[in-house]
Amino acid sequence: MPHDYDPTNIFARILRGEIPNNTVLETAHTLAFRDIAPQAPDHVLVIPKGPYATFDHFAAEASEAEIVDFHRTAASVCALIGASLASGGPGYRAITNAGGHGGQEVPHYHLHILAGRPLGRMVE
Ligand code: 5GP
Repeated sequence: MPHDYDPTNIFARILRGEIPNNTVLETAHTLAFRDIAPQAPDHVLVIPKGPYATFDHFAAEASEAEIVDFHRTAASVCALIGASLASGGPGYRAITNAGGHGGQEVPHYHLHILAGRPLGRMVE
């Protein structure tokens, strides 16, 4: 492992097929699936298939192919759920939580894509 990545985390188990998921999109390097406790009508998690605990680990350690694939897949999810500005949709929120201060629960990098209702301004 490139850093202190915990291979027993729930998203690692999803990637190994040990736990089912509601897949939205899958590519060679990236998996997008619906959050089990959605906070908006559309709440999709986009994760790299590689062992990266946070955004900063991913940005520092992943290959350019993984990084490009991850972002293109996230953008495709936004289009698929009808939220993408590029295809005339009303918009979305894309956020990641990192570590203790970020409130990260699952230690495998994930981008939350929230859409389907006005999300308001972030105040925290
Ligand atoms: P974090 O707080 O780490 O940014 O977000 C973790 C997210 O993973 C939460 O929104 C939570 O609902 C979601 N989650 C936790 N366990 C599972 C699971 O087993 N399946 C799916 N699809 N989502 C999960």
